[in-house]
Amino acid sequence: MHAIDGRGDQAMGGQQDVIVIGGGMAGCAAALGAVEAGATVLMLEKATSGKGSTWQSAGSFAFAGTDLQRATGHEDSADQLARDLIKAGGGRNDSALVNRFAERQLDTYEWLRRHGVDFQRVQLSGGQGVPRSHACDPGLAMAALEASLAAHPSFRRIDNCGAERLSRQEEGWTVTADGVDYRAAQVIIASGGFSRSQQLIQTFCPDLLAGTPLGGFANTGDGLLMAMAAGCGLVDMGYVKGTFGMPLSNYPEPTLTAPDGMFLLMAIYRGAMAVNLEARRFVNESLSYKEIGGACLAQPGGVAFQVFDEGVMEQAQPIPSNMNFREALARGIVKTADSVAGLAATVGLDPAALEASVARYNAMVEQGEDTDFGRATMAGNVGKPAALTRAPYYILPCAVAVTGTFCGIRVDADGRVLDPYGDILSGLFAAGEVTGGFHGESYMSGSALAKAAVFGRITGQTAAGRG
Ligand SMILES: Cc1cc2nc3c(=O)[nH]c(=O)nc-3n(C[C@H](O)[C@H](O)[C@H](O)COP(=O)(O)OP(=O)(O)OC[C@H]3O[C@@H](n4cnc5c(N)ncnc54)[C@H](O)[C@@H]3O)c2cc1C
Repeated sequence: MHAIDGRGDQAMGGQQDVIVIGGGMAGCAAALGAVEAGATVLMLEKATSGKGSTWQSAGSFAFAGTDLQRATGHEDSADQLARDLIKAGGGRNDSALVNRFAERQLDTYEWLRRHGVDFQRVQLSGGQGVPRSHACDPGLAMAALEASLAAHPSFRRIDNCGAERLSRQEEGWTVTADGVDYRAAQVIIASGGFSRSQQLIQTFCPDLLAGTPLGGFANTGDGLLMAMAAGCGLVDMGYVKGTFGMPLSNYPEPTLTAPDGMFLLMAIYRGAMAVNLEARRFVNESLSYKEIGGACLAQPGGVAFQVFDEGVMEQAQPIPSNMNFREALARGIVKTADSVAGLAATVGLDPAALEASVARYNAMVEQGEDTDFGRATMAGNVGKPAALTRAPYYILPCAVAVTGTFCGIRVDADGRVLDPYGDILSGLFAAGEVTGGFHGESYMSGSALAKAAVFGRITGQTAAGRG
């Protein structure tokens, strides 16, 4: 093993002030925030570009008060966004993090756009009081940020170089990766969640062993473990939830597998109803897909079906979107029939039971009161579901994915890592999915990517001394 002092080593370009661990949205935003504030930055990435959760995501960012919202007639504000985040989080969120996010989100949206991130439209999704999911192609967004970073002479990235250990020095920190010690005054951990670690899932949220792991292939919680070893506090570990809506490409095969490039489909938020293997509804479909995920895992086989009609299909959106029902139909993942009984037969449900469930749901929608589960809206508190009466009908078998873990390292509103007593671990920062505190007990759609961008940038600026 040999040591590289980031401040002196010519091979590293010399003078690195900051090491960023992980090259997803949080890591790229942190590195950009730091280089723009004048720091030299070394990024260590365990995999390569294209492998983290950000790349696999649906590309939907929750921002409020944007030009895109105004252009589509959606009144929104930072205050409303903060209220929705606290509501989705059951009031368990760290209000300092929510408030800082609300203050900085609009500016971060503009900053991402200046770096070439192309937000194409605004759509409604789970837990939002106003349509505020700003959809972009996540691969193009990441490519734009990576290009901005590559253009900075004070930035260097090493791929296939996973950080393994973190140790405090008299001044700064040493990161050991691939047998080499890298030193810097400030370290930012942005290594994503632990959805790919069965051991950590079993430790913190064993119910999710029944879910299907998605998310960054290298996201095994390394940054969380390193921060724990350095003495960080933990927050929100009890609130990890699965995500409802992972389409099953091979239903009724026993292995639950998501189709390539199509990880989540949310017809429920366009008015689909959801039933279990007994063809019975089991949940209020307008809840956050995290809440529905919990309800789905409690159903037989952990499997459910989104059932909808032509009126819902007409609202399908091409990517970037988790509303890409037409492509799912073309790929045979969504099945169709001219009648509800025929639809049941395509996936082996009891036709009479599904007819009865659809008829009951339609009657309640028409009466304006869902006495079974209290569904009153399409999603969050927006929109009214319509009765499912327009043939052809559609059915989408789906299950619960562990798309992210949304808990972990305790940080302050500048992204400084805190110990279990709330004291700062000097020179150590964290951002993105590896941190806890922001979401609370559940999750508003689009808030994970936006959080990674907003707090990534803040930590980069603070680590560079310009917070
Ligand atoms: C299918 C899917 C859809 C989603 N859709 C949305 C959505 O539309 N909106 C939303 O808000 N959220 C969504 N999410 C969640 C969101 O994508 C993540 O929370 C977010 O991308 C996290 O960003 P990050 O930078 O913290 O982590 P990542 O993007 O996962 O980046 C972490 C990086 O760290 C690297 N790494 C890991 N360990 C190490 C190590 N030891 N050393 C060095 N590098 C390391 C990884 O390889 C990875 O590149 C989705 C997630 C999935 C899986």
